[in-house]
Amino acid sequence: MSQLWDLPAPEAGASVRPNAAGLSRAELSELLRGMGEPAWRGKQLFAGLQRQRWTRWDQFTNLAKPLRARLEAEVALAWPKLLLSQASLDGSTKHIFEFADGRQVEGVHMPYEDRVTLCLSSQVGCAMGCTFCATGQMGIIRNLSAAEIVGQVQAMLIHHDHPLDRPINLVFMGMGEPLHNLDHLMAAFDILTDPEGLAIPPRRITVSTSGLVTGIDRLGTYPRRPRLALSLNGTTDEHRSRIMPVNRVWNLEALAQCLGRFPLQSGERITLEYVLLKGLTDSLEDGRRLASFAQHFPAKVNLIPFNPHEGVGFEPPEETRISALCKLLVDAGQPVSVRRSRGQDVGGACGQLVRAGQKPSVPKSY
Ligand code: SF4
Repeated sequence: MSQLWDLPAPEAGASVRPNAAGLSRAELSELLRGMGEPAWRGKQLFAGLQRQRWTRWDQFTNLAKPLRARLEAEVALAWPKLLLSQASLDGSTKHIFEFADGRQVEGVHMPYEDRVTLCLSSQVGCAMGCTFCATGQMGIIRNLSAAEIVGQVQAMLIHHDHPLDRPINLVFMGMGEPLHNLDHLMAAFDILTDPEGLAIPPRRITVSTSGLVTGIDRLGTYPRRPRLALSLNGTTDEHRSRIMPVNRVWNLEALAQCLGRFPLQSGERITLEYVLLKGLTDSLEDGRRLASFAQHFPAKVNLIPFNPHEGVGFEPPEETRISALCKLLVDAGQPVSVRRSRGQDVGGACGQLVRAGQKPSVPKSY
């Protein structure tokens, strides 16, 4: 397995200046202290960045001009550029973000009556190579930094003029395997959940993994962490290994054991995402094995009818089969829902996120 934990994020080599957009309140306070300013200035900076959504130093009119000039010279303030926004007929919008090095990722804004859900990317490309996923065909290019993860959220909130008091759900189901980029993901998590910033409750943030057992175990060691979802998508090792090569490293038995020891809070459940591929993962026998797998730990099942996209050769299931599988799971006492992906007409649905023309710098490997 390659050392994907060590994949760089861009700030490391691109600039020696810290990027304020990816610093926590404590880190900003420390930075300001180092500049001879009182620590509470860091708190002001953090609120200006994360609550006021200021994107240039000249907007920080609550700071004296000489301090603004020093910040301008010594501290970067770099948010991703919103390159393109494509509205879908179902109300969701796919956004394309570009970073300082020209790399691009996608995110999706999905408004609901009582909240908005933002689907975020954690890497440029992905090493996991799931055969049903367009991003998986790119291979891995690099990890995103904390600033690039937080920046996707802020850019979408600015674009959609999101009021501060409207609930936000975040799902890491865009490009990348988030548990391959856990350090930057958790740094972003700390910023996004800070009560003096966007204050998104941790239970409203979900990380979806392909089944990286070492990453799941590591996520479980954080006292404050996002909720966990597993892209299961196969109920036998033979089938799962065909569509998700990670299963050749950690099979279903290893996954069940790992999820069984994952420290859950009271009432918390692990979401099992199961993409229904016609003739491959949608048999009634699959449904029975899915129910049996889910009984190893508190779980809720999300059935996701496959989104057709070019070049992968799978088909969506029949509606009657979806209903039959739901009934089977409900009869087995398993909480279940069917997730209809949004943004299908603009290529923003699960498994469709890919930026054409971006060449991988690290080959797919496990
Ligand atoms: S489904 Fe997720 S983990 Fe698998 S290749 Fe796509 S982005 Fe990577």
